[in-house]
Amino acid sequence: MGMKNLSRFIPLVLLLMLVFTLCSCDKSFSQKENINRGKSEETELASSESSLNYRDSLTDLNSENNGSKTIANVPLTPYPYTKLNSSELPDVAIIVDDFGYNGKLLERFAQELPAEVAFAVLPNLPYTRKAGEIASQYGHPVLIHIPMEGTGVQEKQCIKNNSSADEITALLDDFYAQLPMAVGANNHQGSSVTENREIMTIILDWLSKHNLFFVDSATSKNSVAQSLAYSRGYPALKRDIFLDVPDDTEQTLANKISSLNKYQGRKEPIIIITHCHNEKKLSNLQSFIREIRSQGLHLTNIINAKNIAA
Ligand SMILES: [Zn+2]
Repeated sequence: MGMKNLSRFIPLVLLLMLVFTLCSCDKSFSQKENINRGKSEETELASSESSLNYRDSLTDLNSENNGSKTIANVPLTPYPYTKLNSSELPDVAIIVDDFGYNGKLLERFAQELPAEVAFAVLPNLPYTRKAGEIASQYGHPVLIHIPMEGTGVQEKQCIKNNSSADEITALLDDFYAQLPMAVGANNHQGSSVTENREIMTIILDWLSKHNLFFVDSATSKNSVAQSLAYSRGYPALKRDIFLDVPDDTEQTLANKISSLNKYQGRKEPIIIITHCHNEKKLSNLQSFIREIRSQGLHLTNIINAKNIAA
């Protein structure tokens, strides 16, 4: 090939170089973001904690969205919380994430925590089945804690952005077979997948088909899970507060208790997620429950929260 022929490829080569540079910038940006997020995205305090979209300030959802399979870029309506003419605080629904790793304190957690507290159990772990069984034996609602692609290290078998519909369905079937007592599900990690409408649609449709509901753990402020559930006519639940973020000190606990005030007058229960896998976290959660009860708040279970959001 002569010089003249080669020179015809120069613009193409330049274009490829530009595309490559842009891609690597994007990648290094997201890598940097991952580091900033810290190693556990579940303990990230999403800014969504302050978003209370009340029903009276929003128009009804465009009915064309309902049941539509092509959901690409249609704007989603945020779930409109109901504001009551009351200064009372709503009930509180607590979910404890990440059961399944440890069998040691399982029975104690199930026994000592009030039955309203839901147990979110990870599939494919040594104590997955046992955690589900013991939790339901003590009357706790069980959630499938679905591993999803996030920004950090993730479970081997998790739902990814590039999973096919068949792969997702097979995974969910398998997870549900391990936790047949589950009443619903929430996401483990999943900052990335909960922003993905196509994948979340497959997950939400599968859950609904099995009479299960989804609680968005809200690890990403860009999660579409709750508004997508709302737009498809499913119960639309989202975590309001992470109790053990940024840490489990008494000061943090006190801050979380005073932060409950901003939910005054809301009809939907306040959904709190925490982790509870050692004595200290158990005793923290117990003091939190004692304290809110002494302030006149009531615990409710996640199924009641679902019925209100349905
Ligand atoms: Zn988790």
